[in-house]
Amino acid sequence: MSEFAIDHLGIAVRSLDRALEFYQGQLGLEVSHRETVAAERVNVAMLPASVSRIELLEPASEDSTIAKFLAKRGEGLHHVALRTRDFAATIERLRASGARILNEPRTGAGGHTYVFVHPESTGGVLLEIIESKE
Ligand code: ZN
Repeated sequence: MSEFAIDHLGIAVRSLDRALEFYQGQLGLEVSHRETVAAERVNVAMLPASVSRIELLEPASEDSTIAKFLAKRGEGLHHVALRTRDFAATIERLRASGARILNEPRTGAGGHTYVFVHPESTGGVLLEIIESKE
């Protein structure tokens, strides 16, 4: 079986700058990088927390999935991301067993390859699976 680690928790926010007042200013985490992921129309700030990370997600346009999430659910936990070295085998196993994978593997924040699995397959949490390059 594959080995997994929690890579990051994705949190949808209306404003990165306002969220960073808490996560950076008050809590004391540091931002390792910020970027705009054009394919997802989202602005991302990554904050390492020991072996894991917090990923803050701000919509970069009104038709982004994060904007839709915020309109429907408000700010909050958007997804949980696991990383594994056995990425291809994991995706194949999930497909074969009927899990609902939402996209073909693609490259996102930080140059990582990932897929999303629909909450109906995972107990109600949008799950991101990332290829570990270590
Ligand atoms: Zn993520």
